[in-house]
Amino acid sequence: MDMQVSFLDRLFDSGLLIDTGVDGLYGRSGQFEDVIAAFERLIDKVGGADGAEAIRFPPGMNRAYFEKSGYMKSFPQLAGTVHSFCGNDHDHAGLLQCLEEGGEWTKDQKATDIALTPAACYPLYPTVAKRGPLPMEGGLFDLQSYCFRHEPSKDPARQQLFRMREYVCMGTEDHVTAFRQTWMDRGVEMMKSIGLDVEIDVANDPFFGRAGRLLANNQRDQNLKFELLIPVTSQTKKTACMSFNYHQDAFGQKWGLNLEDGAVAHTACVGFGLERIALALFAQHGLDVKLWPDHVRKVLWG
Ligand code: ATP
Ligand code: ZN
Ligand code: MG
Repeated sequence: MDMQVSFLDRLFDSGLLIDTGVDGLYGRSGQFEDVIAAFERLIDKVGGADGAEAIRFPPGMNRAYFEKSGYMKSFPQLAGTVHSFCGNDHDHAGLLQCLEEGGEWTKDQKATDIALTPAACYPLYPTVAKRGPLPMEGGLFDLQSYCFRHEPSKDPARQQLFRMREYVCMGTEDHVTAFRQTWMDRGVEMMKSIGLDVEIDVANDPFFGRAGRLLANNQRDQNLKFELLIPVTSQTKKTACMSFNYHQDAFGQKWGLNLEDGAVAHTACVGFGLERIALALFAQHGLDVKLWPDHVRKVLWG
């Protein structure tokens, strides 16, 4: 018999995560949320002086923007859309009958105008494009959103609904690549300050299918994506707790983001996986926050 209790089971037993019966969909205890809140305050402290414009979108986005983003081309396997019942009395009777019989009642629902947000920055680009040209000194935005990805897993660090805190920078190539480098350095320092072992490595997104292999290789070869890795469930297969993405002028072209001189804006975003960072802390320092090292508690709670 395998006596080893998984990290997920220990998180359930401690009450930090709450089982909903769906892999990757968890309730969180007050203690778990308090760790996330403390880490977000640390982010505010480190990034606060940069003067980013804070914007909070809900976890759903305009489906038309979602379609235009090209997400279905690259990551159809991860996407989630919101569907609703839009019928009349007669249809309702059919729906109830179908439910009663254990049938596929959802097939008659219709797509609404809302898709689930796949990454916190997706709703931002069309929003900023609508405002008109960016000033020559560029734009800097502070975002946080629940994100959905259809990737059910027993790994507590791979959830289907999780929070991503992001900074997004728009401007010239030099400006946004310097922004990305600054946050790579800051990310390493922040994680060290809370007692986590970190490593930065080049990465790629899981582009779908055969054509996707090429896109992934290209992203790697051009160093467009880096990840900050921390051991969470395994010492050898580390978990990406932050990512640092340079989009070149791809989003600028797609959304019509221009600088005041007419040049297409380059963009970059850095994302913190908030649940993953909390889980890394629990994995490293134990499930009882009261027993965490003093210097770590001090950084998080003063
Ligand atoms: P992975 O390679 O582990 O799938 P990713 O490359 O898909 O991660 P990004 O798309 O760069 O991740 O998302 C930004 C951050 O959001 C990641 O660095 C990670 O911390 C977090 N994140 C991504 N997917 C998940 C998930 N399924 N559950 C929890 N956090 C996630
Ligand atoms: Zn982003
Ligand atoms: Mg992923």
